[in-house]
Amino acid sequence: MLIDNHGRTINYLRLAVTDRCNLRCFYCMPEEGIDWLSRSELMSYEEMLRACALLVKMGIEKIRITGGEPFVRKDIMPFLTDLSGLPGLREITLTTNGVLTAPLVPQLKKLGIRSVNLSLDTLDRERFFAITRRDELPAVLHTLDQLLLHQVQVKLNAVVMDGRNTADILPLAAMTRELPVDVRFIEEMPFNGDSHVYTRLAWDHVRILNTLRKEWPTLEKIPDGPFSTSANYRVPGHKGSIGIIAAYSRTFCGTCNRIRLTPQGQVKTCLYDNGVLNIKDLIRDGQSDTALESALLSAMGSRAKDGWEAEKNRANAPVHESMATIGG
Ligand code: SAM
Repeated sequence: MLIDNHGRTINYLRLAVTDRCNLRCFYCMPEEGIDWLSRSELMSYEEMLRACALLVKMGIEKIRITGGEPFVRKDIMPFLTDLSGLPGLREITLTTNGVLTAPLVPQLKKLGIRSVNLSLDTLDRERFFAITRRDELPAVLHTLDQLLLHQVQVKLNAVVMDGRNTADILPLAAMTRELPVDVRFIEEMPFNGDSHVYTRLAWDHVRILNTLRKEWPTLEKIPDGPFSTSANYRVPGHKGSIGIIAAYSRTFCGTCNRIRLTPQGQVKTCLYDNGVLNIKDLIRDGQSDTALESALLSAMGSRAKDGWEAEKNRANAPVHESMATIGG
């Protein structure tokens, strides 16, 4: 079992398999994209598998595949097949924008993927284009249909952005009436891929909750799972549930069980840190599994208490990298 210096269990890895994406969500990256990593800067699948196998041996039980957009990386399906064979790994999940995902759903289901996070910030085609700079809403909705058809559990993730999609809060939440989905509203974070200065957050978790409560005064709190990042609610009679993730306010760090591995091999023990160790470099340096394990253990043993401390520690490297290089 992996325990950090604050007594928190770490059993969840978020693995970003690429920094590339087929959308250009304005809150994540600039329109022209970012400086994509070259192939040699990216971890190879073999390197990722070795890192994952080691981390699973050390106590990681769940791996979420993310990116960039996981399905734009070539040969992702054979990699997922290999990963699903790792002894000791209990669960693989993934986060996708749903543009290329629909035809792969049956295969994902066969690999044992039971839950998928689908990013969907709006149900309005024009607003979707304005936010993502691509006209792909129909493809994303088709993925949603396929996931539900194949009984894959769906979490719909919507970043709440002042003046961009706040009109979507209620229509998205209303989807829970007929669909067994978990609609989660996420506070916007400063990971936008450019140095644009980040001002006060207009829509924090309190304001989102008040908006929902106004529409559904009977909205009730339901229990949050043990390591949940979302505060969860339900409208009585609805089939699905509603979650609010205080990603900017960082109210959930006390139970954080997750680490991240970026496409270039940086291990991050907090979303807001600047990377604490590069596992790809150690692997390419010819280090043994024992050496890798002790480097990882020492990283877990000096974890920031919370996202505020992690952000403070990176004082000379302010938070503005794209979420696509971190893995959402
Ligand atoms: N391409 C995949 C997708 O769209 O789901 C996976 C990667 S994406 C970076 C993962 C999640 O991060 C998405 O749900 C996205 O909305 C979220 N995200 C990206 N930038 C964000 C930001 N600045 N604030 C909050 N969430 C953000």
